[in-house]
Amino acid sequence: MAEIIDGKAEAQRVKDETAVAVEKFRADFGVAPGLATVLVGDDAASATYVRNKRRSCAKVGIESLHHELPASTGQGEIMRLVRELNSRSDAHGILVQLPLPDSIDSREVLNAISPDKDVDGLHPVNQGRLLAGEDGMRPCTPLGVMRLLERCGVELKGARAVVVGRSLLVGKPVAMMLLEQHATVTLCHSRTRDLADEIGRADVLVAAVGIPEFVKGEWVRPGSTVIDVGINRLDSGKLVGDVAFAEASERAAFITPVPGGVGPMTVAMLLANTLTAARRQESNAGGGGR
Ligand code: NDP
Repeated sequence: MAEIIDGKAEAQRVKDETAVAVEKFRADFGVAPGLATVLVGDDAASATYVRNKRRSCAKVGIESLHHELPASTGQGEIMRLVRELNSRSDAHGILVQLPLPDSIDSREVLNAISPDKDVDGLHPVNQGRLLAGEDGMRPCTPLGVMRLLERCGVELKGARAVVVGRSLLVGKPVAMMLLEQHATVTLCHSRTRDLADEIGRADVLVAAVGIPEFVKGEWVRPGSTVIDVGINRLDSGKLVGDVAFAEASERAAFITPVPGGVGPMTVAMLLANTLTAARRQESNAGGGGR
């Protein structure tokens, strides 16, 4: 029976560490780290996500600068706001909540965020830095996945890692981060042949597909580590991952539950990223030493 990886507890550990580091940051620079949040339109789920992120910021001592715009807001106005936030020294991180209304070109908005303030790690410059192995803002969910793997002490060097899903948000960056840790990585997607065989070879499996319980227990390699990024709500209202949890738990050595696995890590890593961004910006501005 697999050991359950407790994402909630690990996320709390990240938040506690961040809160301590925020205290030190305030002492060093005389200001608080600041995260600007931008919410456009009236999508209820997006509003909830932003509220949770702001609440989490407050708990660790990060200031949140919130901007709420109506769904009718034009591209130009959003772009102006992003440029204004880029130039504000109290906004160390900028988070534009997705999805934006259909009338808005999301890519143009995300690309306008200063890469140094891109705490979601979605700017092409940050994706390029990841590919190049340079320091940069890394996307939050993949960072959370890596932190959970570190927590359960899995040896990644030389391990066979299989990532299912190749989105910019999760699959591709997770694959790059696993490669950075010297795993041998296979990146699978909807056109992959013999997916069950690929998964069957995985010492480490990361599932980011978006289909409820898509990965069957019998595909999972005995003794492997299974990280389930999926968050799918069934008609019954129940939340399930991309992996058939009960079956997979019979074979894996470690497995993340849904909810309570990767999900809580994403917000925790956002807080950690905001602090990292703030420290870099204030150090470059010549602050500190107070
Ligand atoms: P996307 O829809 O952007 O990507 C899904 C990926 O799965 C695609 O690469 C797609 O392949 C692949 N895929 C789809 N069908 C199959 C199939 N039959 N066999 C193999 N691969 C397939 O999703 P995201 O990456 O944004 O999210 C994935 C899941 O993770 C979702 O459940 C989402 O809710 C969750 N999520 C959770 C987060 C968290 O905080 N825990 C954060 C972000 C996402 P192709 O490219 O060929 O189409």
